[in-house]
Amino acid sequence: MAKIKVIQVQDECIGCGACESTSPKLFEMKETKAHLKGSKKVKWKGKDAFEVETDLVKDAKEAVDVCPVTCIHTE
Ligand code: SF4
Repeated sequence: MAKIKVIQVQDECIGCGACESTSPKLFEMKETKAHLKGSKKVKWKGKDAFEVETDLVKDAKEAVDVCPVTCIHTE
């Protein structure tokens, strides 16, 4: 099955909750920020970020599209 890497720059998250609504298997709200489930801390393009590899390709792409501050990325 195809896998995709999901990266979230959590510092840029404004806590709108859109990713949790669209892709609840990947994101959950924790206090004022969205948390990328099962992720580990990484450096991404020089920024602190969280990353997870998943086969939830469609969910990941929908989360990218829905984030108003484009802090969710895929590779
Ligand atoms: S859609 Fe983006 S800004 Fe909104 S909660 Fe999710 S990561 Fe944060």
